[in-house]
Amino acid sequence: MTSPYTQPLVYFFGQGRADGTAAMKDVLGGKGAGLAEMTNLGIPVPPGFTIAAPLCHTDLETHQFPPWLRSQVETSLQRLEAATGRQFGGGDNPLLVSVRSGAAVSMPGMMETILNLGLNDTTVAGLEKQSSNSAFAWDSYRRFVTMYAAVVFDLAKAPFEHRLEEMRLAAKVSRDIDLPVEQMKALVKEYKAIVLKESGHPFPEDPIEQLWGAIAAVFESWNTRRAIDYRKLHDLPDAMGTAVNIVTMVFGNLGEDSGTGVTFTRDPSTGARGLYGEYLLNAQGEDVVSGTRNVEPISQLKDKLPQAYSELERMARVLERHFRDVQDMEFTIERGRLYMLQTRRGQRTGHAAVRTAVEMVSEGLISEEEAVARIPPNDLNQLLHPTIDHAAALDLLTTGLPASPGAACGTAVFDADMAEQMGRRGEAVILIRRETSPEDFHGMIQSRAILTARGGMTSHAAVVARGLGKPCVASAQGMDVDESGRKFEVGGRTIREGDWLTLDGGTGRVYSGQAALIPPEMNEYFTKIMGWADRLRHLRVRVNAETPADAHRARDFGAEGIGLCRTEHMFFEGDRLIAMREMILAEDTEGRKSALAKLLPIQRTDFEAIFRAMEGFPVCIRLLDPPLHEFLPKDAEEIAGLARALNRTVEHVTRVTESLAETNPMLGLRGCRLGIIYPEITAMQARAIFEAACTVASRKGRVMPEVMIPLTATVVEFRQQALIVRQIAEEVFRERQITVPYLLGTMIELPRAALTADEIAREAQFFSFGTNDLTQTTWGLSRDDAGRFLPQYLERGIIPDDPFQVLDEAGVGKLIQLACELGRKTRPDLKLGICGEHGGEPRSVAFCDDLGMNYVSCSPFRVPIARLAAAQSALAARGTMDRTRATV
Ligand code: PEP
Ligand code: MG
Repeated sequence: MTSPYTQPLVYFFGQGRADGTAAMKDVLGGKGAGLAEMTNLGIPVPPGFTIAAPLCHTDLETHQFPPWLRSQVETSLQRLEAATGRQFGGGDNPLLVSVRSGAAVSMPGMMETILNLGLNDTTVAGLEKQSSNSAFAWDSYRRFVTMYAAVVFDLAKAPFEHRLEEMRLAAKVSRDIDLPVEQMKALVKEYKAIVLKESGHPFPEDPIEQLWGAIAAVFESWNTRRAIDYRKLHDLPDAMGTAVNIVTMVFGNLGEDSGTGVTFTRDPSTGARGLYGEYLLNAQGEDVVSGTRNVEPISQLKDKLPQAYSELERMARVLERHFRDVQDMEFTIERGRLYMLQTRRGQRTGHAAVRTAVEMVSEGLISEEEAVARIPPNDLNQLLHPTIDHAAALDLLTTGLPASPGAACGTAVFDADMAEQMGRRGEAVILIRRETSPEDFHGMIQSRAILTARGGMTSHAAVVARGLGKPCVASAQGMDVDESGRKFEVGGRTIREGDWLTLDGGTGRVYSGQAALIPPEMNEYFTKIMGWADRLRHLRVRVNAETPADAHRARDFGAEGIGLCRTEHMFFEGDRLIAMREMILAEDTEGRKSALAKLLPIQRTDFEAIFRAMEGFPVCIRLLDPPLHEFLPKDAEEIAGLARALNRTVEHVTRVTESLAETNPMLGLRGCRLGIIYPEITAMQARAIFEAACTVASRKGRVMPEVMIPLTATVVEFRQQALIVRQIAEEVFRERQITVPYLLGTMIELPRAALTADEIAREAQFFSFGTNDLTQTTWGLSRDDAGRFLPQYLERGIIPDDPFQVLDEAGVGKLIQLACELGRKTRPDLKLGICGEHGGEPRSVAFCDDLGMNYVSCSPFRVPIARLAAAQSALAARGTMDRTRATV
């Protein structure tokens, strides 16, 4: 039978020119491609060969390898024998190999490796002679039998390790290698007996049989539980498969002039230049990674083996220059001689990614464009927020939606008043609620983070936390909150008031206890990268902000205007909330007008401050869009408080509250429907906006207001609301004797609005896509309840991403595209933007850029992420970078 594959399946490296290159990762896996490329660079690599990854999916259960593969492997084995001058299974000068996994994308520690393969009762004698070191030879044999038993026969390691420890204790030695040789020999015998007893198979003496067993086991390790889970977690395709590398053994355990280690070419946490890693003298690779021996920092190798160290530094320089990126290298020193066993792109933190990219530009390794293209935009979160130091062990309680990034520790608190009191005293608290409401705002301000059992990515907790720049995890899985009992239960554990918790709002993870945090740092490297990014992008980046403080912070983050000022959020606090509730609960126009009169000066003052903070950049103010349930009092206590504040009876407030309750508040009397039913609300807001604008303009301030009508479904709604706004504008301009240019536009957040965008654009000067509601209404999926079951949809692969986090291009995106096209057909200069949460999500930003939108708008801390994503999108459009690489 001949091979059904058109390309070869086995690729040689380590001598002359390798069969493969770095570009062949899909076939050779990362490790195999790295070994091939290093060979081609003249870097000392132990010779070996790689069996191609596509073979991983051949049916290997029976270990029956097809004859065409057997013959290719055997030919390579002969080539290896010739290259090393050793013989596989040879008694005098035996060739030993390692058998290692290696997929196209690195999956550290997830698959199997076997070292010292080829040893048996005959070849061990050859190794003794070759090394003149019996202890080394038998120690290698013992290790090999243990590894083989675990990987190929799937036996537990514990009985092997237990027996080894007993022997060590009996012999009164602390290191395995110091066991008397006779004892090691006895141990190997015992190990083989364990293999026979536990597996029913004798330990294979024939090296060829050993080799095929190991190859099959490494291929099979692609499908272990942990490997599958890892791929799921990192969104890696199962179809990729692993390659198998068969590499001549070089020994780091031949004495004090030998050793092994791993090192980065730069510090992967900070990006600082210079080798960063660890090593062990007289050891094999597994000793470094297994944690059984205390490793030494790589800098100490300089004193111990200076020549090998300077050679390692030289290799690091060669590899960095060649790959033009930080490398993560594995090496072994055998009797003073350095061998490189692996090189791959070094994983790094956001801090290191930014610093490395900037420094590589100044070193002439990469261009500014490449530097910008290299940084995953979401990694900037690490520079903008504290992050968890993962060096220490963490106790995971549960996971929820990553509703607002950053990490924080604090003690559990279950009500907003207490959170406020403790927070004001400087205590670190985490506010835990079933879900939050405007009533909780004062407590949220004083908390380090917010944790809720319910609510989605656009719930009150999530939106407010993002605005405040505080971490938030929403819809935590399996969390049962007992607010009055001041505790919550999750996974059979109970967390009570005062217990320490750590939240990671970037991953949605909730830990018990107080983890160490790494502080944020917006340093000179960050400023440089952002400067380069700004020069490259076309898409403008605005912010969603409603307080002057947020507006100022957003300017520091580089926001070029406000894309969404949610005016209902301006009433979340204290007296304002009471005035707002008074307005909502008013039973007649008079009552409403009197409440509105209290709201007008508050709004005007806020708008003025925001206009000033934005220094002439556009400020898009959205007219009131409160889902009523967010503002209605929720329980008897709140009703009683409101009745007191409004000087009404409890019965009255209860009755009106009940009359306003809606079955589906998100689809109820909200958005412009409120202004249609109560035009005096629209009039008050328009007055506040134009009075504030005139005040700023009359004092020589620059101001560019945009008035936005929310939740428009039909052009008629827009027309009626626009009429009120225009009339008020004229009135105010007349009164103030000054005219301020402004734009009047609408949110597009209902499918009907998108489908009739051509009609709406006749009246509206701009569209801003409210993708939170547009996703909700396109999918018919409540944005507040989706968090309860969407994780299962993701898990089962029904959807690739949460559509409230990553824009659903195929569905919602199609409506957006249609609306852009229809809108611009009617009004070619129609201004287009997006202000749903997707406006700060890198892939969604690229989508908006592709549609030719003018701007994206997002929460303040996402502004730098959107700036970088917009620059990468511009580069992708120029073909300078691969879009998927930049945003993964
Ligand atoms: C939206 O729906 O996307 C939007 C920005 O409005 P809100 O989240 O306030 O409903
Ligand atoms: Mg909306």
